[in-house]
Amino acid sequence: MNVSFYPGPSQLYPEVEHYLTDAYRSGILSMNHRSAAFMDLLAQTVAALSEKLALPAEYEIYFTSSATECWEIIAQSLIGHRSLHAFNGAFGQKWYEYTRRLFPDCVAQPFGVDEPLDVAGIASVEQADVLCLTHNETSNATAISSELLLASRHAFAGLIAVDATSSMAGVALPWEAADVWFASVQKCFGLPPGLGVLIVSPRAVEQAQRVADHRHYNSLLFVRENFLKNQTPYTPNTLAIYLLYRVMQQVSPIRQIDVQTRQRAQAWYALLEKLPVAPLVGNEAVRSPTVVAFRGEGLFIGKLKERALIEGIVLGNGYGEWKNTSVRIANFPAITDEDIHRLRVFLQNNILKFL
Ligand SMILES: *Cc1c(COP(=O)(O)O)cnc(C)c1O
Repeated sequence: MNVSFYPGPSQLYPEVEHYLTDAYRSGILSMNHRSAAFMDLLAQTVAALSEKLALPAEYEIYFTSSATECWEIIAQSLIGHRSLHAFNGAFGQKWYEYTRRLFPDCVAQPFGVDEPLDVAGIASVEQADVLCLTHNETSNATAISSELLLASRHAFAGLIAVDATSSMAGVALPWEAADVWFASVQKCFGLPPGLGVLIVSPRAVEQAQRVADHRHYNSLLFVRENFLKNQTPYTPNTLAIYLLYRVMQQVSPIRQIDVQTRQRAQAWYALLEKLPVAPLVGNEAVRSPTVVAFRGEGLFIGKLKERALIEGIVLGNGYGEWKNTSVRIANFPAITDEDIHRLRVFLQNNILKFL
């Protein structure tokens, strides 16, 4: 079977095969979403997530359809007058562009791939009431360190919303540093696509109450009202919730997963150091622990990916401007040590051949 190092949709936890059968046999997939059985599943899934991810008790969890939906929920339900989007890659920029359609005067603050985020240095920061950050920029394999997220908290008095789509459940996150966190499950959760996880602090709920948006089926307050009753505003993706429940029961606490992810990332970068390719990100301090990328000339990258596929290894294409000149490797927890070994051997044996 192929092994996928694509950074989303990504390799599933091997146990998911078995959970799919269990879901079918349990009968939950045909149950009404107002039934006691579904409400119980929802409550248990939220509790398991909160425990395994070590969330502060007062933070609430809701499910959405995707991270993209979370971008829109934040725009319609949490921005009072203006959001500020600091980004260095394609996903942060997309978030900004989606928000701009609803709030034409939201502000973009791009920064360089090798530059650390410096919220205190942004001149217009005080005019915004929501600061939007991308914790792990999946497109270029950079991440914002916990230290810089905490520094952002000190530098900005408003609400902070963080897109952690390709890092949540893969590394420990400094929850207190932000009010809104979100992800979708086809990245570090090792699950099939089709479910988003939205986490909000009490401050975010207060802001939603001030903004008082009730215009949408997915207005934050309406979503919340349902989740407080262990229900959802619309017929949910019960299968995805069930699979998330099972995976959350299976995985180690995030502190342990974090150690493993960082050790594996170090090993990837150490290997790249020995090979004649350059990491996409030069500055070690801003390299992502969950997505590793290296760059090279287009023909070489193309041949390498083609050869990998013949050997049953799916490498991630580059993204946006690096589409054909970089390779991304998901360093997600669902990938087994065996599969990592397979790719390491492949890279060692093939990079020189195609250079
Ligand atoms: C994958 C990804 C998204 C989009 O996720 P969807 O589930 O397609 O909405 C958003 N932001 C980041 C950082 C991502 O990696």
